[in-house]
Amino acid sequence: MRVVLDPLALHGAFIREIEAISEQNLLACNQCGRCSAGCPLVEEMDLLPNQIIRPAQLGLDTVVDSTSPWLCAACLMCEARCPKGVDLPRIMDALRQIALRRGESRVVAGDVDPALLAGAPQMAIVGALRRGEK
Ligand code: SF4
Ligand code: SF4
Repeated sequence: MRVVLDPLALHGAFIREIEAISEQNLLACNQCGRCSAGCPLVEEMDLLPNQIIRPAQLGLDTVVDSTSPWLCAACLMCEARCPKGVDLPRIMDALRQIALRRGESRVVAGDVDPALLAGAPQMAIVGALRRGEK
């Protein structure tokens, strides 16, 4: 895929917004891929965890459209494996928050199947509610 980089985006508001919310330095990531190698949800994601960070580093805000931040279970495996100390779950959370600010939620709590809720662990229910619209 051909990507056109905008020099202004490389120092732009989108990167600052992610870093302000997540309190992470996006450029600390060197794309080693250890996070993706350990993530239990990669088969469901449209972008691997390291592939989420790369466009964010480049100021490409289309990454907000990815389903991956909404599937992230905040299990912290990627953070534990990262040799650069990047707290990726915080970046996933920042991308969800930015999407919510744009009115682009992927989770509507009221739409969740009651049968699924009945058997889901409490942490999953609370996590889903924190991510979406009521
Ligand atoms: S493990 Fe850390 S440094 Fe490596 S790709 Fe993932 S976030 Fe980047
Ligand atoms: S915190 Fe999210 S991105 Fe990181 S390993 Fe767990 S599910 Fe994957």
